[in-house]
Amino acid sequence: MLVAECFSSLQGEGGLAGTPSFFIRLAGCNLRCRWCDTPYASHLPEGTQVGVEELVNLVAESGRRHVVLTGGEPLVQRDVSVLTAGIVRLGLHLTVETAGTVFREVECNLLSLSPKTSSSDPQGPWSERHRRRRENLVPARRLLRCHPEHQVKLVVQDELESEEICALVKALGVEPARVLLMPEGATAEAVAARAPMVAEMCLRLGFRYSPRLQVELLGGGRGV
Ligand code: SF4
Repeated sequence: MLVAECFSSLQGEGGLAGTPSFFIRLAGCNLRCRWCDTPYASHLPEGTQVGVEELVNLVAESGRRHVVLTGGEPLVQRDVSVLTAGIVRLGLHLTVETAGTVFREVECNLLSLSPKTSSSDPQGPWSERHRRRRENLVPARRLLRCHPEHQVKLVVQDELESEEICALVKALGVEPARVLLMPEGATAEAVAARAPMVAEMCLRLGFRYSPRLQVELLGGGRGV
């Protein structure tokens, strides 16, 4: 599998924020979000080919009880089902992060779905393909049905996105208590500037607020 990086860090986002975890970041993505903070795993994928068995061994040797499989978009990789089965067999807690634009059968303890809104739309040759893929909710609904233990995380840039976010949550049929909103931003300052607006949205709409500790505490970039 094409692996961009493996590292130990605190889970930065979602219901398990703050939990020491071992991360596997697979390279390759079928979207091109305008504000993507991991271009080395999406727009310009980099990495090394690592076998599934070797990855499972790295997880076992990490000593962490929580594992996060992220990307890129992990579900575009053909062998991801074998990898998730191998990690779950170790008896560890596995979170799979996905934008939910492609379906693949995977085993995990928490499906962390991050559907994209129009704020992610890029300009240029990828524009139409990106929009078409993010608007197709069929794979996301199927993933949510297959994984009753799920959370839905949404990046927010602007309060004007309220309506679109509510419509998306409704279309996915997700309980508000499982929805977390996070401020967009590549720096701690940018995240802090949007935090009050996102907190207010959470209060108004009944969603949860999620920090982005990988940016706020650890500065963002690789290895966090
Ligand atoms: S889905 Fe994630 S990895 Fe892919 S382009 Fe969007 S933000 Fe980047």
